[in-house]
Amino acid sequence: MNKTQIYMIVKNEFATKKATAEAVAFDNMQKVLKDPEFFALHKKERELIFDIAKNKSIKKPTEELSVNLKNVQNAIISRLKILNTPLEDLSPKYDCKICNDSGIKNGRTCKCFEKRIKERLIAESSNNISSLHNFSEYNSKIAKNQKHQDQLEKLSGYMKSWIDSTNPEKPNLICLSGKTGVGKTFLTECTATYALKRGKLVSMISAFGMNNIFLKYHTSKTEEKVSVLDTLMDPDLLIIDDLGTEPMLNNVTVEYLYLLISERCLGEKQTIITTNLSPDGILARYGERVFSRIFNKRQCKNFQIQGDDLRINK
Ligand SMILES: [Zn+2]
Repeated sequence: MNKTQIYMIVKNEFATKKATAEAVAFDNMQKVLKDPEFFALHKKERELIFDIAKNKSIKKPTEELSVNLKNVQNAIISRLKILNTPLEDLSPKYDCKICNDSGIKNGRTCKCFEKRIKERLIAESSNNISSLHNFSEYNSKIAKNQKHQDQLEKLSGYMKSWIDSTNPEKPNLICLSGKTGVGKTFLTECTATYALKRGKLVSMISAFGMNNIFLKYHTSKTEEKVSVLDTLMDPDLLIIDDLGTEPMLNNVTVEYLYLLISERCLGEKQTIITTNLSPDGILARYGERVFSRIFNKRQCKNFQIQGDDLRINK
C-alpha cells in the first residue's frame, strides 16, 4: 500500500469515527426528548439561549435571562438523572477535542490525523520487513578473526545508540562498506528491526529498486511525480542495500542519488548505505559530488568492515 492509499483509508476511518460519535449522541437525544418534561426544558433552554444572543446584539441587559438559563440547565441535569442519561451522552464523544475527529483544524491537518497516518505507515513497513533479522540473532563470534569479531560487536552497539540518539549533531548517514558476506546486510536488517520497534518508519530497499524509483520519477508527468519518491523520502530510517549493483542510468542515477542523500540529510532523516565499493570506487562511479556527500565527515559516518565471508564460516 502506498501513502496515498493509506491517506484515503485514514480519511475514511476518521469520517466513520466522527459520524458514529454524532449518531450515538443524536440517538441519545431522541430518546430523552420522548420525555415531555425534558422536551419542555430543552425547548426553554433553546429559547433562552436565543433571547440572550438577541439581547446582546442590541446591547440589552441579559442578567435575568442568564439566571433563568442556569436554573433551566440545572433542572435539565436533574431530569436527566431520573432518565438515567448523563448530560455528556447528549454530545458527540470525539477522540480528538481539537478537531472533533475531522482531522482538520483551521484548514490544516490535525496532529491526531498525522499520528494515525504514521501508525498506519509503520504497520505497513513492519509488514514489509517482519521477516528481517534482529539483534537477538546477532552473533559477532561467527567471524573467524578477532578483529572482525570486535568490529561487528562495536558496530551493533553503535547502530543501536545511533537509532536511539536524540542529539541533533549525530550523523544522518552511515555508509557500511566491505566485501560480500562480511555482515553488512545482516547488521542493517537488525538495525531496521530495532528502529521499527522504537516506532520509527523504516524502509529497506536495494539500490536496484531505488534506481527504478528514480527512473519512474524521472519519466512521470509533473502531476504524478508528487508521491513517487515518498518511499525514499518519508521513512525516518532508509536503508539502501548494495549501492553499486544498480545499472547506471544517464541523468538519473547520480543526479537523484545526490538529491536523495542531500534532502534526507537536510531533513535530519537517518540513512544507511551498504556497498561493496571502496571510497575510491564510489568516487569513480558516482563522481565528486556524491562522493563528498557520502563522506562528509560532519554529517556522515563511514565504516569499512574488514574480514572474510561470514557465509563461508557458517
Ligand atoms: Zn485532531
